[in-house]
Amino acid sequence: MGGLEKKQHDPARTEKLRTTRQRRMILDELRKRNTHPTADVLYEKVRKRLPRISLGTVYRNLEILTAQGEIQTLEISGSQKRYDGVPQKHYHIRCLHCGSMDDAPIAPLNRLEDALYGATVYTILGHRLEFVGLCPACSKKEEVRRLVEQDLNLPTESSGP
Ligand SMILES: [Zn+2]
Ligand SMILES: [Zn+2]
Repeated sequence: MGGLEKKQHDPARTEKLRTTRQRRMILDELRKRNTHPTADVLYEKVRKRLPRISLGTVYRNLEILTAQGEIQTLEISGSQKRYDGVPQKHYHIRCLHCGSMDDAPIAPLNRLEDALYGATVYTILGHRLEFVGLCPACSKKEEVRRLVEQDLNLPTESSGP
């Protein structure tokens, strides 16, 4: 049974190495910055380092990494899935204007599940909670917009060049 390891070119082994390298690269890109990217965005980043990788491969690896507990797949109702390089449970806050997503710095509310226990016939496996708001950049824009609107409420005189 032994002795096969000395074989010079083992396609299965080469394939395995390639797969491992791709997966590590995807994980690396995901963890570099905690921006919770979609697969498309992540694909564009990974492609700069592995030009021959396909979007399908990126998707498949993200599924495997999620199954292995290395990353999280964030399913957000009504929008594309996003991926999180931090596998520990945590909440997110999403900007309603630009869609950017950050971690919400609070501990998981396990008491929520305790509160529901016994009150439902369901077996509770977990919960999803997402905060929504405006990111600092969008807050600022919104403020400027409001100020401009206030100004425009006055009868306008044509000014400027
Ligand atoms: Zn924003
Ligand atoms: Zn996160």
